Amino acid sequence: MSTIIPYKTPCLECHYRDLKNRMFPTCAVAGVHPPIVNIISSLEVSEAVRIITGKNPNLMNKMLFCDLRNLGFDIVQIHRREDCPVCGLKPIEKTIKHEVIEEICGRGGKRTFVVAPRENLELNMNTLYEVLKTKGYIRVRANLGINMAYNQKAISILKSGVMIAKGFDEREEVLKIYKNIIENLGIPWTRVE
Ligand SMILES: [Zn+2]
Repeated sequence: MSTIIPYKTPCLECHYRDLKNRMFPTCAVAGVHPPIVNIISSLEVSEAVRIITGKNPNLMNKMLFCDLRNLGFDIVQIHRREDCPVCGLKPIEKTIKHEVIEEICGRGGKRTFVVAPRENLELNMNTLYEVLKTKGYIRVRANLGINMAYNQKAISILKSGVMIAKGFDEREEVLKIYKNIIENLGIPWTRVE
């Protein structure tokens, strides 16, 4: 864990050059030991409070390694790199590819996917309800989202257009359902991808 203040302290790229998310197993595959989430999130909150109250965060220019297996907490000093492609003297402009669908941590032992449009679709929840009720059993209907049962699986769609699909085997199947819903709502796919 480190607290990054953009262009003031080292960014992740300064320290871990060319680190790719894809090089690591996702939490859906490797799992997450729950206590580490509590510990790190609490530390992050205390760092945020320091920033909000005008103090320097404790992990500025530092990286904390937390090893619960052996109960070790090590802090090392890290430095900004002038040749960093992100925050250095000559940054390289890179556009990040938008992934419409991603698999996240499984819920209740079932594969779970999130579909996220590139922009907030501000869905009309009444129209969404009319479309969804023809496809499955509506379990929750609220102002900001609708949850429904769909062939032993679960789908939630939020007003923003984000969809969470639980219990599906293939991302293609999830994407197909999402495309169909978007089409039924009369929203052009260019707003999604
Ligand atoms: Zn950097």
